[in-house]
Amino acid sequence: MPYRAPLADYRFLLGHVVGLDQVAATDRFAEATPETVEAILTEAGKLCEEVLAPLQRPGDMHPARLENGVVRTPPGYAEGYRAIAEGGWVGIAADPAHGGMGLPMAVTTAVNEMMSAACLSLQLNPLLTQGQIEALEHHASDELKALYLPKLISGEWSGTMNLTEPQAGSDVGAVRTRAEPLPDGTHAITGQKIYITWGDTDFNANVCHLVLARLPDAEPGTRGISLFLVPKFLPDADGNPGPRNAVSVVSLEEKLGLHGSPTAVMDYAEAKGWLVGAPHKGMAAMFTMMNNARLGVGAQGVGVAEAATQAAVAYAMERRQGGQGTIIGHADVRRMLAVMRAETFSARAIALACAVAIDMGRATGQAEWQARAALLTPIAKAYGTDVGIEVASMGVQVHGGTGFIEGTGAAQFLRDVRVTAIYEGTNGIQAMDLVGRKMMDGGEAAFRLLQEIEDAAETARHTRPELANDVWAATEALREATELLVGQEMQDRFAGAVPYLRAFARVLGAHYHLTAAVADPAREPLARVAIRRLLPEHAALLAQVREGAAGLYALSPEDLAA
Ligand SMILES: Cc1cc2nc3c(=O)[nH]c(=O)nc-3n(C[C@H](O)[C@H](O)[C@H](O)COP(=O)(O)OP(=O)(O)OC[C@H]3O[C@@H](n4cnc5c(N)ncnc54)[C@H](O)[C@@H]3O)c2cc1C
Repeated sequence: MPYRAPLADYRFLLGHVVGLDQVAATDRFAEATPETVEAILTEAGKLCEEVLAPLQRPGDMHPARLENGVVRTPPGYAEGYRAIAEGGWVGIAADPAHGGMGLPMAVTTAVNEMMSAACLSLQLNPLLTQGQIEALEHHASDELKALYLPKLISGEWSGTMNLTEPQAGSDVGAVRTRAEPLPDGTHAITGQKIYITWGDTDFNANVCHLVLARLPDAEPGTRGISLFLVPKFLPDADGNPGPRNAVSVVSLEEKLGLHGSPTAVMDYAEAKGWLVGAPHKGMAAMFTMMNNARLGVGAQGVGVAEAATQAAVAYAMERRQGGQGTIIGHADVRRMLAVMRAETFSARAIALACAVAIDMGRATGQAEWQARAALLTPIAKAYGTDVGIEVASMGVQVHGGTGFIEGTGAAQFLRDVRVTAIYEGTNGIQAMDLVGRKMMDGGEAAFRLLQEIEDAAETARHTRPELANDVWAATEALREATELLVGQEMQDRFAGAVPYLRAFARVLGAHYHLTAAVADPAREPLARVAIRRLLPEHAALLAQVREGAAGLYALSPEDLAA
């Protein structure tokens, strides 16, 4: 079943729900007019439908492999990547001063979502490069920027992020890779990194690694970590890749999914690296890349949810079983498809709203927008990827037995998307970020957003009273739970963090569906699914928030093992 880019949904969401017009009204993004955005999304959609989607199955069947230390990518990936790079899509959000398009994150997020839907394994390569570009723009010296940014933005070179080590997963502070200062001002990087996505390719002229490592005088923990740029080939002053650096791929992982994407164990043996940002401030610099990638990974979930829904609807309209017509006539199949559509819309709206907040924060410098973006990022990441997994799983269910057989592609969606809840900070870590760091303001950013949602529901009461009342009441319940949460001990907050994030996403999703129904009556049936069937879940989720941690710790590890 061919993928179709959901252009009408982007047009509607950007124009009527998440407010791209505010972004286009700023000086920085004045070029993002509806006409320009339409043209860009149409062009990207064409690339995804015609060039990238056909690479989805071959990438799964012919995994990336390591041959004599060289990574070989699946058939067609080099050509697909070239089309991405030549279209300028790697540098879509990058600074025009270095060759980027300078477009808002809202547009970038829609483009990234489409590419993820078409071919997730390949899309990871430009996604990580985008994150590296942003980290270098913010933290690198002018010399490094001048040398690396044009090559990364054009897509000639690619970028990776190297945090994880065997003993340092979620606990990044446990990183042991060492950085020894050299007389010429560079550093010798030594250590092993694992699970490095696109750690090498056979279609990028250079692969640039951003590596977390410790200087000799570093404190233990996250405060002693610095960030280094370590290229595979050492470039000369004109940016021509020169001698090979002492970094190599030791092996590639065998994985549940994402077979087309090489996930590498990397060895650094006194590799030459350049410090990015201040010594010992590597986490702050890396966070620029991680925040970018978190929204990008949330959009990956949305993209796979869209593709899985399209495939499931097409199958349900053809498969005849029980009764006169096809299985789409059965109530339970209709329920699954409606939930898949409603969830995909909610997750997409949350991702785009987060992107708009990032754009507004950058364009205006206003702290309120920046706080909104910080609040929404963990929700966009965790909910977007949970929706990707749940919708892909329902897609398998709609297909029945054929869903479990590889040929339909339904199983691949589920296998590929599963890791999105794990990498880029597990969804549990995202939820802890939401109830911890993002509530350090006493919940101010959250309360401001909830007030806007209640105000919108008040207005919607005139035209959609039944739906608006439900959204208002759920928002009020979330506000009360948030008041309780900000007074809780951290351990109690953490025990309810995942249900709290999910309840927040339920309320946000319902709000965007209601906004959609008010703007266009044709959107009301889907909004009704989201508000009448899915939103009530918030009550059960918030009950868990109120429970705190004691009940969980009343069960000992031995009880759990028994
Ligand atoms: C396909 C793939 C690609 C990847 N790509 C990259 C990459 O490009 N670069 C890179 O650096 N890394 C990459 N990773 C690594 C990924 O980011 C880590 O796997 C992830 O951060 C989790 O770390 P871990 O696997 O060590 O799990 P652990 O940290 O051991 O976590 C195990 C479980 O414990 C939970 N947990 C851990 N600590 C806490 C805590 N403090 N509180 C509550 N719960 C906790 C986690 O949520 C999880 O459920 C990739 C991984 C995979 C599988």
